[in-house]
Amino acid sequence: MNRRIAYRTFGCRLNQYDTEAIRTLVEERGGGETAGLHEAADVYVVNTCSVTARADATARKAIRRINAEHPAAKIVVTGCYAQRAPGELAALPGVALVVGAADRARVAELIDGIGDGPPIVAVSPISTARSFLDVPITEMAEHSRAFVKVQEGCNESCTFCIVPQTRGASRSRTLASVLDQVRRLVDAGYVEVVLTGVHIGDYGLDLPEGRRLLPALIERILDVEGVERFRLSSVEPASLGDDVITLMAESPKFARHFHIPFQSGSDAVLTRMKRRYRAEEFASLVTRIAERVPDCGIGTDVICGFPGETDEDFLRTFEHVEKLPITYVHAFTYSPRPGSEAEHFPGEVPGEIRKRRTRALKRLSAEKHRRFARQHVGRIVEVLIEPSRHGGAARIGGWTDNYLRVDLGKGAGDARIEPVEITGLDDNGLTGACVSARHRAGADVSAGGRCVE
Ligand code: SF4
Repeated sequence: MNRRIAYRTFGCRLNQYDTEAIRTLVEERGGGETAGLHEAADVYVVNTCSVTARADATARKAIRRINAEHPAAKIVVTGCYAQRAPGELAALPGVALVVGAADRARVAELIDGIGDGPPIVAVSPISTARSFLDVPITEMAEHSRAFVKVQEGCNESCTFCIVPQTRGASRSRTLASVLDQVRRLVDAGYVEVVLTGVHIGDYGLDLPEGRRLLPALIERILDVEGVERFRLSSVEPASLGDDVITLMAESPKFARHFHIPFQSGSDAVLTRMKRRYRAEEFASLVTRIAERVPDCGIGTDVICGFPGETDEDFLRTFEHVEKLPITYVHAFTYSPRPGSEAEHFPGEVPGEIRKRRTRALKRLSAEKHRRFARQHVGRIVEVLIEPSRHGGAARIGGWTDNYLRVDLGKGAGDARIEPVEITGLDDNGLTGACVSARHRAGADVSAGGRCVE
């Protein structure tokens, strides 16, 4: 079929991976060729996120815009928003098909069945999803880092979150399949592998071994030939053990970067959120990481204005973030998610106070991030340089292993990891220059992803 299909992804890296899996399934079935980013298409597959009210609004806006620009095109909507509220999406103009998370394996077949009739809604209860949708892929939207999904769903019940309802219970990809996926991506030219999942700390619980297998999984991936750098995506504090920290401290390939959601520094708020740790446990974990892994980039998420959050609760959060070696914060203004347990919690915090707290935390995050970045000026560090997408005139840049962005000026080329001298820090972040052969000859470049001065 010479139909052209365009793919649009919203939300997290997981969704990027899911989109690639859908694209692979469609192409394997011969359901249509992938349209280029700026090409018109016959079908638009929109993979949505529903983590906040804003994410929902973004998806609706994108669908309306596609319909306005391409009125004859059929729109297929999938992802968390499709699972949560299929009726809302089916009512939007141009939508021909809504596919839920439990039905993703059938997406190619369902796209083939699109006609001119009313929208098809294929959304089974997510509780029916029992296995990991295992689709090996070799290409990702981002060309330098490969996001490998190893786990889907979540068994927790955080009261602000609807992910367990949109993605279902925790399901793990087999170790053999993960390793096969990593090798395929390395063969396709990727040098950095990023492990992703909804709750990667639970990886393995549903496999025959019946226990958490994250450290064993990391060890096996670090051993794969061709993986030059390995990174973990977000990991829950209650499931991050010292074994993983030790692996990071000892392996030069394991990027020194953790993203560990905090959500609040108040135990009263954490209890109402049904989080499985207390503020001091989080603080002790972050302190241990910083002691064992020098210059580790440590990011976190915080929700500002959860129902019942007092000024004192917020102050505790702020003080924890201020004193801990956290290098950046994603601060979110709380908004109740329809269907979440907290949706009807009493003690709503006025919108202006929620926003003020978010702004305060964002300012603190910017200060801490800048302080952390400034320590790197004058050092030589390894940077994963991203290829230019717009020809030789474009600016290129890349990421250090501890998650600092470095601008490298004009240039082009393939994705590669190279020693870079950090030359300055301006309003946009760090600037650097690739180390010349002369400079490189005098530097010890054997320290993997670490600073190589
Ligand atoms: S751990 Fe909590 S916040 Fe994270 S996906 Fe599971 S329920 Fe949601």
